[in-house]
Order: sequence, then structure tokens, then C-alpha cells
Amino acid sequence: MENPLTPEVLADPVALTRALVDIESVSKNEKEIADCVEEVLRDVPHLTVARHSNTIMARTELGRAQRVVLAGHLDTVPLNNNFPSSVQGDLIYGCGTSDMKSGVAYALHLAVSVPEPRYDVTYFFYEAEEIESRYNGLTLVAQAHPEWLTADFAVLLEPTHGVVEAGCQGTMRAVVSAAGRRAHSARSWNGVNAIHGIGDAIHRLAGYQARMVTIDGCVYREGMNAVRIGGGVAGNVVPDLCELEVNYRFAPDRTAQEAELHLRETFDGYQVRLIDSAPGALPGLTAAPAREFLAAVGADPIGKLGWTDVARFAALGIPALNFGPGDPNLAHAPDEHVEIGKIRDGAATLHRWLASH
Ligand SMILES: [Zn+2]
Repeated sequence: MENPLTPEVLADPVALTRALVDIESVSKNEKEIADCVEEVLRDVPHLTVARHSNTIMARTELGRAQRVVLAGHLDTVPLNNNFPSSVQGDLIYGCGTSDMKSGVAYALHLAVSVPEPRYDVTYFFYEAEEIESRYNGLTLVAQAHPEWLTADFAVLLEPTHGVVEAGCQGTMRAVVSAAGRRAHSARSWNGVNAIHGIGDAIHRLAGYQARMVTIDGCVYREGMNAVRIGGGVAGNVVPDLCELEVNYRFAPDRTAQEAELHLRETFDGYQVRLIDSAPGALPGLTAAPAREFLAAVGADPIGKLGWTDVARFAALGIPALNFGPGDPNLAHAPDEHVEIGKIRDGAATLHRWLASH
């Protein structure tokens, strides 16, 4: 097959977005797009290229004082009658337009067109972000080639609609349970109703005052919510167990341990069993490359509320943020699209930041 990522396409982030969207790459089917990206990068004299599975790493080795990462995932969620791409006015429609081949287009365009960036740059084009974390290309690289991830600052080109979203909130799920004693409902006074018993826990959630935390100018709004409930044995039995699943989204000034402690305090008197948790990431906008990035964007950052791979870099001690042209509200939607104007604006911003000395 001929590589659709021709020099003319690579020179234009808009054409490049379309070309990348038109290579189908649903998670676990990234080989073809990774082959195309690798072939292009191997032809670039100022880059050193390596590959792990379907993740491609390319970097400059100019001996600069600082190194930054630009990263984008190559995979998409499953197609939904939105392949290949189409253009209507200023909008490109198609699977992956927003999340996040328009962001991947930035990284690939910059990789080939900025031979002398002001920092050394490591570009990542990685597989399997949209599925379980153990398949994630960055997870695999961290295990097999941790030295590839060495950097002072990272930009993940996930959809943010052209604003800077810094850090991210942590997330935790736990099961809060009430125990009771079974009895025939005709003689219910012989039992203890566990569903009634969970009532106070629901009451605490309904009245819960979530924190708003400001860090480096970014506002993080927490939330604690019941997301599932289960209990009951039969239509004539007083239930002996009721389980309430709670999701706590916490600001990155709290560690996962502190968040768990807070959750347990909130449900004092109940049994609390942790299901999973992932720590948040501090925005870390005080590092020099981050400040210079914000200056190039020229607008205030906002706090990222969802969990993203930014947290992976934060866990390695690398400040990281999200910046991409797509609208995050359209990610994974059947009418997913991206604005051509936003692609051009963001590409100009990144050029200003990386190519100026
Ligand atoms: Zn994404």
C-alpha cells in the first residue's frame, strides 16, 4: 500500500488530520497507521526513531538544556457509521477527528517540519489509549523503555477545544454496604432491613458539599456520587445486604490515600470496600517550558476534570497538560468532528512555542 502521509499532506495539519482519520485504527488495530507514521519519521534526518509494538517514539538529540514530550494516541473507539472522514464547511467529521487524530496531526506535522526546536523534543505516537490501561502504549513503554519517557514537561494533544487543561483529577470507586438480618416480611420486626440501613449513606451523599480547589490558577471541582445500588432477596424477604457504589472525583491536592481516608470518614459507621483508584495530577505550571507554553497560548489554563494520561507523566515527576483542537464533548460521539479553524490556530501556537528561539 502506498503511504497516504505524503510530504504535501504532512505540511498541512488539516490535510494530515483527514489522512490520519482515513486510516482505520480502532484499538488493537493500530499496525497500519503505526507503519505509516514510522515510515515517515524514519525519513526525517533530524529524528532518532524507535518502535515498541505499535507505539512509535521519535526524538531530537540536539543537546538542549530541556526536553519536552508531545504525545498522541493513534487508536480510536469503534467506528459508528463515521468512517471515512467528510468535510462540511469548516468541520471535518469522522471517527477520531476530535479524539484525537487532529492532535496526532500536530505532533507529526511538528516532528517533520521543525528541525531545530528550542527544546529537545520526544514525540510519541502510541497505541491502545481507549482500552484497558495494561494495553496502553505508554504503560508498555514505561515497562520496557522507561528512559524514552525522560523529559521536563509533556503536552498531551487530547481534545481541549484549543484551551490548556492542566493536571487532572483523581478518581476512586468504593462499595459502601449496610448489613441487616433476613426475616419474613410478614414479621419484619424479627429482621433488620439493610436497604433502609443504606438510607443514611444516601442522605450523606445528597447533602455532600464538594470542594472547589484552586491550584496554579486552575479550578478543580470535586464530586462524590452514588453510581449504582443493589440489594434485596425476594418480594417477601427483609433484605440482609445493600450495596451502594460510590465514585469520588478528587482534586490533585489530595493523594489517593488521603482521598480514601476522606471517603471512609464520610461513610463512618458503614463498611467501605475500595474497588479501584487512580491518583490525580498537579498542574505543575511553574516549570519553565510550561510557562513558555502558556505564554505562547496567551490564555489562562483550566483544570482538567477527567482522568487522562497526563497523570502518568505526573507520576513520573513530569509536569504535563492537555492541549488539542477537538471538542472533548464530541469525543466518542457518532457525530464527532473538529473545526478546521481550531486545527490551524493550535498548530500556529505550537509552532510559535517550539520553533522560536
Ligand atoms: Zn483520547
